[in-house]
Amino acid sequence: MLDPVVDDTGAPFWGYAAQGELRVQSCADCGELRFPPRPCCPHCQSFTSEWRLMSGHGRIWSYVVPHPPLLPDYAAQAPYNVVLVELEEAPRIRLVGNLVTAPGAPLNSLDPHRIRIGAKVHAVFAEGLPQWVLS
Ligand code: ZN
Repeated sequence: MLDPVVDDTGAPFWGYAAQGELRVQSCADCGELRFPPRPCCPHCQSFTSEWRLMSGHGRIWSYVVPHPPLLPDYAAQAPYNVVLVELEEAPRIRLVGNLVTAPGAPLNSLDPHRIRIGAKVHAVFAEGLPQWVLS
């Protein structure tokens, strides 16, 4: 597996994920949610932020089943999916991840033919990595 590259701005996201929490950065002044994490609010230019707990519920906005050539770490797990999940609380925020059958299940655990755009999903966590399962 490829490990996430964590920078100072995004570190809280991964820290909360390690505790099994899906949190999204929000502006502490205007309250607007933003993702990916960044230092400044694109709406009011404030530099103060907080991390708001999400329900973990969302819908599949789009997905792909990558085809070769694939990175060696992933080739052995093909065919697998990469989903774009629209969060219930923040439809403009979409998280990239994998849809699996259970927390920590292999990337190819779900038959790609079962994936539908609009399907309800929720977040699960495996060793600090957010993943998605069908609701
Ligand atoms: Zn703001």
